[in-house]
Amino acid sequence: MSAPFHQKTAERGNIIDGAGYAKALRDRLAVHVSNLKATHGLTPCLTVVIVGDDPASQVYVKSKGEMTQAIGMESRTIRLPDTTSEDELLKIIDDLNRDPVINGILVQLPLPKHMSSLKVIDAINPDKDVDGFHVINAGKLAVGLNGIVPCTPLGSLMLLKDAAAAHGDTLAGKNAVIVGRSNIVGKPMAQLLLNQDCTVTIAHSKTKDLAEVCRSADILVAAVGRPKFIAGDWVRDGAYVIDVGINRIEVDGKGKLVGDVDFDGAKDRALAITPVPKGVGPMTIACLLNNTIKAFCLQNKLPVPEGV
Ligand code: NDP
Repeated sequence: MSAPFHQKTAERGNIIDGAGYAKALRDRLAVHVSNLKATHGLTPCLTVVIVGDDPASQVYVKSKGEMTQAIGMESRTIRLPDTTSEDELLKIIDDLNRDPVINGILVQLPLPKHMSSLKVIDAINPDKDVDGFHVINAGKLAVGLNGIVPCTPLGSLMLLKDAAAAHGDTLAGKNAVIVGRSNIVGKPMAQLLLNQDCTVTIAHSKTKDLAEVCRSADILVAAVGRPKFIAGDWVRDGAYVIDVGINRIEVDGKGKLVGDVDFDGAKDRALAITPVPKGVGPMTIACLLNNTIKAFCLQNKLPVPEGV
């Protein structure tokens, strides 16, 4: 693993530099892409499909395309109107599944209400499912096989391991509490931490005495979707805190992004904590690029580069 990017500053507490880590990861991936081109004359290709004109999704898709190109991969975007039928979308996915030039397929979520995201994800060839949401990839993660791991939990784990390494520490044996049990963040995060030999608790909206559950955590991962929901005094002294939440709030009439953790209340207790923005967010796209390279290598029966 690369040198830690974790930075301890007396003034700001232990802020995990997710943006810096993501940049370094993208730089390493760019070298892998360059090597693949030089050695095999092939370029990994990621296709993103977006249905409708949700403004946040448009921003994410644009950013994914730019970052894909920036590391030397081919980026394609298929934009569909929200009047597209589910059958039409499934036909497009089928065509992408069959196209040997396409290595990664990502369908931007959320989909319009007349479509079933489970059905659409299920239609993606698991070998090209760079989001890692297909049931085959979820199953592989659950039983410890080498599949494609969802980007946000994968990026969160990279930051956690790096922060622990910066303290001469490991994750094994730690009590990990994950607040949130979605298929895209909470559950795969729990599997990843279990695979790291953590003792894992998954909390959710029906969990009793959530504050006490959180206080038991050596590692606290918040994936709730509620601004500053995790109070500072729910964080144990010396805990590692990963804040996955991205919530837009209004402050003095201006939009501001905040996490699920009350950062100001938690930062002096945490041994290491991700900020929002510039924490987990940038890791998600970097891990999407990582997964596309992995998918490319597996499809072409090439060795997966070390660290990918
Ligand atoms: P979901 O809405 O799918 O899941 C939220 C989870 O939080 C659910 O399991 C829910 O419990 C739980 N929850 C809700 N209210 C409470 C409560 N009062 N107490 C305890 N648990 C509660 O969200 P996602 O997992 O998709 O996303 C979570 C957050 O992460 C969002 O802010 C999202 O924007 C952000 N996100 C950030 C990404 C990034 O790149 N950084 C990527 C993906 C998501 P229950 O199951 O019981 O309803």
